[in-house]
Amino acid sequence: MLLAASLVAAPLERFEAVEPHMGTLVRITLYAPDSDSARKGFAAAFERIRALDETLSDYKATSELSRLRAGAPIPVSEDLFRLLSAAQDLARETRGAFDITLGAAIRLWREARRAHRLPAEEERRLALQHCGYRYLKLDPRRRAVQILQPGLQLDPGGIAKGFAASEALTVLRARGLPRSLVAVSGDLAIGDAPPDRAGWRVQVDRPLLLHNCAVSTSGDTEQYVEIGGVRYSHIIDPKTGLGLTTRIRVTVLARDGATADGLATALSVLTPSEGRKVALRHHARVWYSASRSLRVAGAGGASAFDTIRERQPDGGAITSISHP
Ligand code: AMP
Ligand code: MG
Repeated sequence: MLLAASLVAAPLERFEAVEPHMGTLVRITLYAPDSDSARKGFAAAFERIRALDETLSDYKATSELSRLRAGAPIPVSEDLFRLLSAAQDLARETRGAFDITLGAAIRLWREARRAHRLPAEEERRLALQHCGYRYLKLDPRRRAVQILQPGLQLDPGGIAKGFAASEALTVLRARGLPRSLVAVSGDLAIGDAPPDRAGWRVQVDRPLLLHNCAVSTSGDTEQYVEIGGVRYSHIIDPKTGLGLTTRIRVTVLARDGATADGLATALSVLTPSEGRKVALRHHARVWYSASRSLRVAGAGGASAFDTIRERQPDGGAITSISHP
């Protein structure tokens, strides 16, 4: 009798917490048996994101990533090595459409966006000379990184948020809270489905119910600049060093956050037919949308996740926890 009673699982409640990290807001929603385990889960997951930001940020001069310099191979932390490996795989697959070494060109473009004028031709040429994923060598045996081009700067902005979202989800799983969703801005890492539901409701072109996958959107219309009547994105074309002018929004559903985030940025640069080929290799699913009308350009693979159901979930009470 006693055994049977202890086997009955406590009903799970929904909790939500928001904190600022990585220059944006991180929202975690999870199901936990009580507020104490929810609170501890939030604390651990946010701490993981904070620590990752400390290591991977290109905004912080003291981060491990910012301190890398050209020269001899440098042994790095496992987190940094994993992020750079994911970025380099994507760079090779997209022939540099996604490129984490574009720091110099992206900084120049950021200044141009602020000043509302295009960078001078000469400045652009010079910045691009300090970019190129082939100048970044990874040695998995020694977990070491070598930069071959002096002045090369890493910009993890296209992949780090998704990476961090997945890492936070891993922390929650390890604490026995697998029914969780971590959203680092528009990069979602999605765990097991909420109790009695087929999945977490995520709006793509229509509401989808998802679990155990990641979703990222790139090319969001807020982050653009208009110069001379042309609208430029914050994502740059590595060939020109200028912001993209194709007004397309890409949403990617993939196995993990780094893949979804990186692919969404990469596919913003590639043509849809090139992008679909890359996505297919990752069993990822892609939606392209121009302006308001969304159209589905599924690159297969959805069945690999077995995640999509089209049933509407019922509403559920949300218990908010302000953290800390
Ligand atoms: P996301 O919002 O994930 O698409 O990332 C956009 C950010 O990625 C930009 O703000 C830059 O920091 C960085 N970025 C811009 N262009 C590229 C590119 N072609 N490859 C990799 N990262 C990029
Ligand atoms: Mg991205």
